[in-house]
Amino acid sequence: MQIIIFGAPGVGKGTQAKILSAKLNIPHISTGDILREAIKNETELGKKAKEIVNSGKLVPDDIMEGLVKDTLSKKSSSNGFILDGFPRTLPQAKNLEKIFRELGFNKTILIKIYADDKVIINRLSQRRMCTKCGAIVNLINLKDTNKCPKCGAVNSFKKRKDDEESVILNRLNIYHKTTEPVFNFYNDKALIISVDGTKTIEEITDDILQKLNI
Ligand code: AMP
Repeated sequence: MQIIIFGAPGVGKGTQAKILSAKLNIPHISTGDILREAIKNETELGKKAKEIVNSGKLVPDDIMEGLVKDTLSKKSSSNGFILDGFPRTLPQAKNLEKIFRELGFNKTILIKIYADDKVIINRLSQRRMCTKCGAIVNLINLKDTNKCPKCGAVNSFKKRKDDEESVILNRLNIYHKTTEPVFNFYNDKALIISVDGTKTIEEITDDILQKLNI
């Protein structure tokens, strides 16, 4: 099962992808996570991507396409995966089709999570990253806002650089202009499931599983 999880930054793609990955026992491949890890480890890719990611712009297609092809060609992806953050442009979508054809993947499911920009801006302003384990959390969902629910670190949260107010607006602009049109490309190429991203995390998961018929 090849799942593409699609939607604006901050709509909850990463959260749902992690839950579905555990439930369906297939890997969660997040291009944003791969880039952030590369930036943290100061690899060649990280050095090239750092400024671009921090400003909320898109990393060039050729870099992203190479990275995604390498990841999807691994054995761990052969039984399915949840792709989060890719494709974000029409050329990336066309390239992904080619990669899927080459690798013999033919069960594409696209899950679109939708919500108004206002909801997203509000959520992203409360989103934090744990500096110890990298977990992405939202203060709105935490009872103890000082403690990381994943690793237990105390006072370890900081804002992702690309979650600063001005960068959020930039990312949403890019989403509407460049990424949203990719959705139409999948009209006749994938099973499309649309879910309301303003519901609770559990409700959204239930909605997805019900529509997936699982
Ligand atoms: P995300 O965590 O998916 O919001 O991604 C964080 C940032 O990584 C984005 O704002 C881009 O700078 C970069 N990025 C992630 N995926 C892509 C992609 N498919 N194409 C271009 N840039 C990407």
